[in-house]
Amino acid sequence: MAALDIVRIPVLSDNYVWLVHDPESFETMVVDPSVADPVLAEADRRGWPITAIWNTHWHPDHTGGNADIKAKTGCEIIAPVAERERIPTADRLVKDGDRIRLGSHVADVWDVPAHTAGHIAYHFADDAAIFVGDTLFAMGCGRLFEGTAEQMFANMQRLATLDDATRVYCAHEYTLSNARFAVTVDPDNRALADRLAAVEAARAAGEPTVPTSIGAERATNPFLRAPTAAELGRIRALKDAA
Ligand SMILES: [Zn+2]
Repeated sequence: MAALDIVRIPVLSDNYVWLVHDPESFETMVVDPSVADPVLAEADRRGWPITAIWNTHWHPDHTGGNADIKAKTGCEIIAPVAERERIPTADRLVKDGDRIRLGSHVADVWDVPAHTAGHIAYHFADDAAIFVGDTLFAMGCGRLFEGTAEQMFANMQRLATLDDATRVYCAHEYTLSNARFAVTVDPDNRALADRLAAVEAARAAGEPTVPTSIGAERATNPFLRAPTAAELGRIRALKDAA
């Protein structure tokens, strides 16, 4: 099985849309297209036909390109069943335990509610890759708009079961802000201090800092490392107020 080609497309102020291509079947899917034009242009430039959109949650900066990309390509839109009313462009509704294919690559759907009530993630176990939308960020986690700290804690615990090498494809470049906050709640963490310095250098050079990895998050992410839901909730509230 040939490795997936995964391309980062920066859009809006800090969103990343992921274009995922299977070189054997030539199937190509888009995770969370905020907008259509830059995604269509990148796929065109590579000669990849977009066959599917996979949404993690309903927020407009994750679904805003759905209708135009579908109109231009005829692709199938896969979205969380719990958000079907808020993603009217969806063709196929999925939930925890469902499996989706891109060519011969298989992704397991995870329910990861908290940022939104029906948020899902897509885990390609054989590819050691997970698309997490706005659930886990580099040194951060999503805001609790429609769920609880208990739910987000459960999500973090589940993500922490993945191998360190698993690449984590999140939907925003929030890393520098997250790192600067993280050092205030975990000041003695040497790996975190080192990562903050590396991220400052990368951002100063205009470089992206994602995907991240489960290993890097296990070492430096205060939300993934929180020992209890109460502690996760406490630091999430601090970050919201920062
Ligand atoms: Zn969101």
